[in-house]
Amino acid sequence: MTDIAAIDAIDITRSFGTARAVDSATLTVGAGELVALVGPSGSGKTTLLRIIAGFERPDSGTVSIGGRLAAGDGAWTEPDQRRIGMVFQEGALFPHLTVADNLAFGRPRRGRAQECLELVGLSARGRAYPHELSGGERQRIALARALAADPEVILLDEPFAALDEGLRVGLREEVAAILRAAGASALLVTHNQQEAMSLADTVAVMRDGRIEQVGPPERVYAEPATRWVAEFLGDADVVPGTVRDGVVDSELGRFPADPALHGPVDVVLRPERVAVDDHPAESAGLPVGRVLGRSFYGHDQLVHLELPSGLRVRSRTPGSASWRAGDTVRVRVIGPVIVLPPVAEALPR
Ligand code: ATP
Repeated sequence: MTDIAAIDAIDITRSFGTARAVDSATLTVGAGELVALVGPSGSGKTTLLRIIAGFERPDSGTVSIGGRLAAGDGAWTEPDQRRIGMVFQEGALFPHLTVADNLAFGRPRRGRAQECLELVGLSARGRAYPHELSGGERQRIALARALAADPEVILLDEPFAALDEGLRVGLREEVAAILRAAGASALLVTHNQQEAMSLADTVAVMRDGRIEQVGPPERVYAEPATRWVAEFLGDADVVPGTVRDGVVDSELGRFPADPALHGPVDVVLRPERVAVDDHPAESAGLPVGRVLGRSFYGHDQLVHLELPSGLRVRSRTPGSASWRAGDTVRVRVIGPVIVLPPVAEALPR
């Protein structure tokens, strides 16, 4: 590993007509780091990826790959000279070439193609044609081909989107393990939050062309910078609160808050932080909720609760607990909670 970033995309802007697809976005992928760029459809992820790859030129900003300026400030490097490997949604293997010949097409150094086939666990399939492989195998071959050319960085654009759910989860774990075993630097573009959070060392959340937050998955989930990020990354319910002297007061109780906040706030609750209390003796002082219904998922369930004010929150509890619509229960919040200014904008972090 070196200190030189695999990708340094700085202050990138790109418009199509009057629409800004990418708006002053800055994104870094460190050496050996796996970064997921996640955002809803149309947020600008693919455009930013294409700018990094060199398929698109930025209106402003610079792109460096492995410390070498590839775009911006008067520089321009063609995509095939950027030392990047690409894995697309559909693998994009040549159908008329065997697996071995597909790998050789990337001009790997001697023996590297075989090494990479071994790395993806498909060393025995060199003579197979792409149509003889499963969807998951094709994606692993595409990854092997990208790795075989020893690129500075691998760009993966929705690589699991065409696969069915069961295959997708297994394959994404495998791909993360392969990238880590290879010590590769990688940028994964996905609209799937679970995929981003389960795979990456760092998650960059994109919205309307801007990078709204960057950080380790655990942090962006537990400490979202804005209510939008909180709601985009997982289930979240909001109750109003008021902060004074580092404490927020809300219908669900009092919790610690950032002392820099003051006055009205949003208290954002993840359902797994909300418990339905079934020990009446210990829960006497807790807020009361009425069970509206539940969504049962087997391993767990979401219990839909209405508070006396009429506000609704959800509790994620083990699937074994059986609450019924109409039950009156006590609601316990298992801190810490997320406290944010009531508008979408948050304090700088
Ligand atoms: P998705 O997840 O649906 O692929 P995305 O986050 O990758 O979305 P982009 O494909 O980068 O988003 O698109 C961002 C915005 O730029 C969209 O409004 C899109 O319509 C627009 N856009 C992208 N490419 C072009 C183009 N070549 N010409 C005109 N508009 C474009």
